[in-house]
Amino acid sequence: MAGDLLVEMGSRGAAALLAASRHEFDAALAQRGAQAPLGFPGTNYFLPIANALLKIEVRTLGECAQIFEETEKLCANKPARNSLFIDALNGVLNKGIAALLMEEVLAALSYQSGSHPQPGCAGFLSDTLLRSLGVQLVDGRIAGIAVLLGPAKDDTSAVTLVRDLQSRNIVSIIAGSAKGTSLSEQLARSRVAVSLENYIIPVGSDYLSAIYAVNWAIRAPLTFGGLKSGAWREILAYERKNVPALVVLLGHVDEVIVATGLGALAMGFPIVSDLDLPQVGKIDTTLYEAIVTEKDYTKLAARCVEVRGLKVKIVAVSVPVPYAPAFEGERVRKEQLHVEFGGKHGRAFEHLTLSEMKDIEDGTVTLVGPDIDALAGGQLSMPLAIEVEVAGRKMIKDFESILERQLHRFVNYAMGLMHVGQRDMVWIRISRDAFSRGFRLRHIGVALHAMLHQEYSAIVDKVQVSIYTRAEDVARLLPAARRSFEERDERLRGMTDESVDTFYSCTLCQSFAPDHVCMISPERLGLCGAYSWLDGRAAYEITPTGGNQPVAKGNLLREKEGCWSGINANVASLSHGKVAAISMYSLMTDPMTSCGCFECVVAILPEANGVIIVNREYTGMTPAGMDFITLASAVGGGTQTPGFLGIGRLYITSKKFIAAEGGLRRVVWMPKELKESISQRLHDRSVEIGDPDFASKIADETVAVDAAEVVCFLKKAGHPALGMEPLL
Ligand code: SF4
Ligand code: ZN
Repeated sequence: MAGDLLVEMGSRGAAALLAASRHEFDAALAQRGAQAPLGFPGTNYFLPIANALLKIEVRTLGECAQIFEETEKLCANKPARNSLFIDALNGVLNKGIAALLMEEVLAALSYQSGSHPQPGCAGFLSDTLLRSLGVQLVDGRIAGIAVLLGPAKDDTSAVTLVRDLQSRNIVSIIAGSAKGTSLSEQLARSRVAVSLENYIIPVGSDYLSAIYAVNWAIRAPLTFGGLKSGAWREILAYERKNVPALVVLLGHVDEVIVATGLGALAMGFPIVSDLDLPQVGKIDTTLYEAIVTEKDYTKLAARCVEVRGLKVKIVAVSVPVPYAPAFEGERVRKEQLHVEFGGKHGRAFEHLTLSEMKDIEDGTVTLVGPDIDALAGGQLSMPLAIEVEVAGRKMIKDFESILERQLHRFVNYAMGLMHVGQRDMVWIRISRDAFSRGFRLRHIGVALHAMLHQEYSAIVDKVQVSIYTRAEDVARLLPAARRSFEERDERLRGMTDESVDTFYSCTLCQSFAPDHVCMISPERLGLCGAYSWLDGRAAYEITPTGGNQPVAKGNLLREKEGCWSGINANVASLSHGKVAAISMYSLMTDPMTSCGCFECVVAILPEANGVIIVNREYTGMTPAGMDFITLASAVGGGTQTPGFLGIGRLYITSKKFIAAEGGLRRVVWMPKELKESISQRLHDRSVEIGDPDFASKIADETVAVDAAEVVCFLKKAGHPALGMEPLL
């Protein structure tokens, strides 16, 4: 069998890893002692692979000993604890799992000694990053994750491969170096921007760092899938089914890499390589082929898609620069700037309106004023107005803002373009590179026209774009645009849960959290912060069979808690019977479930008879004695946890925010940054509840991160929560 050589190499590699990690471990033990802390930063999952597969929680060096015990069993072809054992390929994949476990220990030791993360590399990928990439996987912006090991055959091939992956929305995680170079260096030499925003994440220049891709992937089933540590069968099945990752092995292979590769196969991640490896077809743990060779770099990315069965949404937009979501987060720095609009130096706005079918011509892009090749010497800024007119039989005024919000993405998708902000606060930059490739202003219109059709064909029949670059035109058009922004805001403000009889369900996150349902109402947006009631409604119009469905409220069961018969029946069915009822406005009685995407966590603080709210960006300790990550793990996974709630930021200032428990008045603590980010809304809502100074009564980390001190502050500030009905 072709795989014999691999079995042999892999076995030797696993044995070598076992010996090496034992050696390092013993040395560390002698030097630092068993009590020395061991782990990775920014995770709640200890050493994630050992935790996920073996339910071992390592906090100290000494606790690693258990991992060695289990690894030895696996290397000897015997089941480890929880009867972890994989039958496929005559059991050799167990050695692969052993290799991963050992590499994770080695990586943790590297963190302990300070040799990881390596300069310019991400190293261990935090839980926060897991979540942000996870959200993009759910909504299809990311099609897959390729772990690129080793250097490409030359610099040009490196660029070809990575650009092809980017344009297919595949994230590249890069590790390893051979023959004196690495893929990261090859990209740097070719001046490809290497960053998370560009979907390129170098985790390390050694091969060991590849483990950071694996112990990132293994947290997905725990974070999003509601699976418990130790449930290795379900976890591995989840990896195969829900984590679209694969390995691309380039330029170099050795025994340890083969052992690691077997570990990848055990997780369902196939291997595509430019080397002459023995070819292995489908095995029990993979969906399709297990090992495939492709020497033509122009075909490599396409092979990846095929072998892992990735679902790639290719966007065909005829602009002279690469165009894909992978370029969305790319910055255009000053040194690369050809021209900019808005921002500090000029006036720019964008505005999308509904038109009559008869009044516009589909696909027309008009530029009024000079283009970007007519800049006077040294001129770097121009005024800009982008007016988009949309018509469609199903298009309604309420969808204007939703479509307009997409302009941000659609402009950013072009390589070399940067778009920040919205409405009359936009700031757009075009790079010299994009300009020299032939990008001109009309291409913005071309992209908007193509993308609005592509993504919103159900409501959009015609799109016409006009671009203005003369200051007098921009000044003339701006007042009308501002009026329409205000009107929209006014309409939204007037919308209440009582004013509609239909809410929208969102099950987009079920690919990660299978039983989770967000119920979205006008006054409570989805917990990820990305879906409002209007978004739900538009999404339903666009894809009637999609993840957002209208739900008739039905009979009102309990007004204060926000409990309706129709909502309950729907949640019960969408959660596959796991959740029988939810209260839209309660923290304590049947609260809504959370997946992993929430912007903030609300948690009860019994000492203060109130609640704290923590945003994801806050890394410090909270008065509840838990940091965000620990709180998040108490909330996530699609189960109901009274006293804890994952929410979108904007819900905090809604009239319906935990109304059953007394609403905003219950909030006793939140991080300063969170408070500031919603300060205007917080102020407005404070006035509404008749306590204009309320915001200043909420403690933050500059006041206290300890419950007793918070209470002390609240007393001094005269915070209303202390006098409210007991929460418990
Ligand atoms: Fe996921 Fe809820 Fe956001 Fe939908 S609204 S994408 S289910 S978090
Ligand atoms: Zn989610």
